[in-house]
Amino acid sequence: MLGITQALGQQLALLVPGGLTLHVTTETTAETRTTRNVIAETPGGDADRVIVIGAHLDSVSRGPGINDNGSGSATILEVAETFASQARDTRNKLRFMWFSAEEQGLVGSTRYVNSLTQAQKDQIELMLNFDMIGSPNFVRFVYDGDNSAFPVGTGVQAGPPGSGTIEKVFVDYFNGVGLANEPTPFSGRSDYGPFITAVPGIPAGGLFTGAEGIKTAAQVAAYGGTAGQQYDPCYHLACDTYANNSNTALDQMSDAVAHTVLLFSKRNFAKDPLATP
Ligand SMILES: [Zn+2]
Repeated sequence: MLGITQALGQQLALLVPGGLTLHVTTETTAETRTTRNVIAETPGGDADRVIVIGAHLDSVSRGPGINDNGSGSATILEVAETFASQARDTRNKLRFMWFSAEEQGLVGSTRYVNSLTQAQKDQIELMLNFDMIGSPNFVRFVYDGDNSAFPVGTGVQAGPPGSGTIEKVFVDYFNGVGLANEPTPFSGRSDYGPFITAVPGIPAGGLFTGAEGIKTAAQVAAYGGTAGQQYDPCYHLACDTYANNSNTALDQMSDAVAHTVLLFSKRNFAKDPLATP
């Protein structure tokens, strides 16, 4: 597929008002590349009770991808290093995953889930996903795992039972520290997608500070920022550099990540399952 930007198209249309025919030449490389997911597990913790904490490590080729998704990757790395350095005893096993080739269509996470046996899938209690948590014009979004705000339909996936419990942990955290938050559609558009569509579905949840969506006046009242502008004006662009990162958003969201990982690391799932059977 080959295209040009809307802006260039408009410029060209103005040049020849009656319409024009163009010949386009490109130099393109099409080849098979090899890439890898990076996986790190706590040595301890019950191997039959695994918490997957995921973020994608790649960016679009157009830019460095600091918000998308250096923000999520750096956050879970910090959480993993803190667990390692403080030798926290976890009841459950933590599996930190940096997925590759998310931007090519969830390639790394799909490959991973498909590589698991049914027994290995059954060992995963839940999946937490963090993809873009430092958007400059941010909203504190929590995945709507129970589909209460965005019912299943176009662009919205059913949250496997237990996903609502994960959502509630994030919401309770933000409410507890007095930070506004709101649900975002459970779209499956990031690496939790292959986990929730596994059979049976693996409960999932996560955080998001917004991409190409437009901030409303009500959201400005709750979070500050600029109404009528994208949550991330540099979404998938070359300008997604560190200058595109909100330290405030990243700080608040990464605290919520650390809280939630710690809480699930200690949860007794036998006594306290995510979903009431
Ligand atoms: Zn992303």
